[in-house]
Parts: sequence; C-alpha cells; structure tokens
Amino acid sequence: MPQVSSIHDRYSRQILFPGIGSRGQELLAQARVAVVGVGATGAASASLLARAGIGHLTLIDRDFVEFSNLQRQILFDEADAQAALPKAEAARRKIALFNSSIVVETAIADLVPANVSEYLQSADLILDCTDNFETRYLLNDYAVREAKPWIYAAAIGAYAATMNILPAPSAKWEPTACLACIFPAPPSGPVETCDTAGILSTAVNLAASIQTTEALKFLTGQTSLMRRTLLSHELWTNQRSEIATGRPLSDCPVCSDRVFTHLAGTARPHITLCGRNSVQIHEHHRPLDLAALQATLAKNPDLQDIRANAMLLRFRRDSNTITVFPDGRALIQGTTDISTARTLYARYIGS
Ligand SMILES: [Zn+2]
Repeated sequence: MPQVSSIHDRYSRQILFPGIGSRGQELLAQARVAVVGVGATGAASASLLARAGIGHLTLIDRDFVEFSNLQRQILFDEADAQAALPKAEAARRKIALFNSSIVVETAIADLVPANVSEYLQSADLILDCTDNFETRYLLNDYAVREAKPWIYAAAIGAYAATMNILPAPSAKWEPTACLACIFPAPPSGPVETCDTAGILSTAVNLAASIQTTEALKFLTGQTSLMRRTLLSHELWTNQRSEIATGRPLSDCPVCSDRVFTHLAGTARPHITLCGRNSVQIHEHHRPLDLAALQATLAKNPDLQDIRANAMLLRFRRDSNTITVFPDGRALIQGTTDISTARTLYARYIGS
C-alpha cells in the first residue's frame, strides 16, 4: 500500500498561503467542480484543481487521446495515445496516481441540451475548457438559468483569454455580465482553430492557470477578489488587453430576458472538431453493442485495424478512421465533409 499523507501534510504549502489557510483547504475539500472538455486547457486545469485538493471533480469529454495531443495536453502519455483512451478516463487514471484522496467522476460524452443538467447539476462551479462556441453558449444558458458560476477560457496560437461569469441572483456575489452580454451571438463564418492556427502549450497553461486561480478564489468564498474583466494575452507579440465586463446588461436576451435558445435546442447533429480533420456524428442516440458490432465489421474485407475496448470501437477504411462510442456517437477522421461522414456512418454503423 502506498503511504497516504495526511491532508495537512499534503497541502501544507498551500495552507501556508494566507489566501487559502486551513479553512480554505477545508472548503476546497468540500467543493465540486465540473470541467467541460479535457483537451489542452481542461487537462491543465483538472491537474491543477486535483493537486489543490478539490474534493470532487466531474470530467466531461467526447474525445480520445492521440499523439498530436501530447505536445500540450499534460495529463496524457504515449500509452494513452497508443490505446486511444477516452480523454476523461485517461485523465481520471492519471489524477488517481498523484491524488487518490479526491473523487473524480467521468462522462465520455458530448455536452448537449439533453444531458447538461445531468452532468452539471451538482457542480458548485463549471470550468469551460471546450474548443467551440456552441458548447460555450449552451453553458452560458444553463449557468444563467441555474445561477451557477462558470469560467470561460480559450487558447489558440499564442493567445489565451479568460473571463469569470457570475450570474444573478446571488447573495454570495456581485453579478457580472454573461457571455451573451459581451458577445450577443457566436462568431459567424470560419473561426480559427488549432487546425488552422496551431497552438502553443504555454498559451494553454496560462489560460488554465488564471482560470484555476479564479476558481480557488470562488471556492474559498472570496468572490470579491475575482477579476471582472475579459482578459487576453498574446504571448508571442506581448500584447495584453482587458475589457471590463461589469454588470449584467439590462437588454441581454439571456441574463435579462431569460431566453435560453441554446438550452432549448435539440442535439447537434454534427460538429467539426478542433485539432484534426474530422466530423462528429451524433444524431443517433441509441446504445450500441460494441462487441457485436466488432464481430459484424470483422467480416468486411474493406475494413482494417478493427479494435475495441469497453469504451470505444475503432476501425479504418482507406484514409478514414472511424471511432464509435457505446451511445451511438461516432468520430470520422480523415474528412471534413459532412455527407462523406454520414455515408460512412450509415454504411458501417447503421442509420
Ligand atoms: Zn447577459
């Protein structure tokens, strides 16, 4: 049995820091945080939160580990990429190696209106570590409706940005503007992604560091110390900007009029992912028997490298790699064409 240190010993340097102290450490042990997206930012923030002794983490991610992730996704290693482990599960296993005294729950899923409540309801705080605005607007709708705080973070190229959203009403904090107060609609047209702009690991870690520090302030009840700006850094050109986010806008459709269009939306049928040439198909919410599917696909001479574990099934057809999850969701790599992806899904998994 590994020696388990006392709480006081493990967190002694953090308890010495006056902003935390013994009382702060106790509050962190009781805290529940949901991390949405366990890619680069999510892995860094989850690692920092786990080391700081947050008592309960929920890690939500729809993706699996690949070699191109290892440059910046600090909770994963080569064995995870080799096994194509789901990121949430790989993160849970890695966290258990350095802090077995906290509870880590995982959800290998895409956060959608139908499951947002199930995964986020028990969280005191939500960290946005996603790579897309669709999920961020869904988070914003949910957080405003439930008066639950969340922290936006984004990183692309050498750029990092973050913002705290403290929705009204609350006796515990002075409310801030919400995401829709600042940006009324998601960006239209092409948005730069890791695919087009690349990404520096250092930008990711800066965003995660600031996001997690703000989380520590919140979870120890020091909301008056939380930043009330949209902060961004461009690390390569040394530019820094800070826009005051102030109070909720009186004409904001979300936090003033309480119209939650993203929460009311039906599940998104397909999404092009950041970080690779791929399409997600998520139209068919039905449980799949992966072992049975593997047996069927094994008879097909057009398919190569068919591999399965309890969490996913993977196979290759020419230049496309198809990964299927037990809930019927699939990632089709090697294309950004929706109809090609749909055709492959229908042919090999079913329509
Ligand atoms: Zn608003």
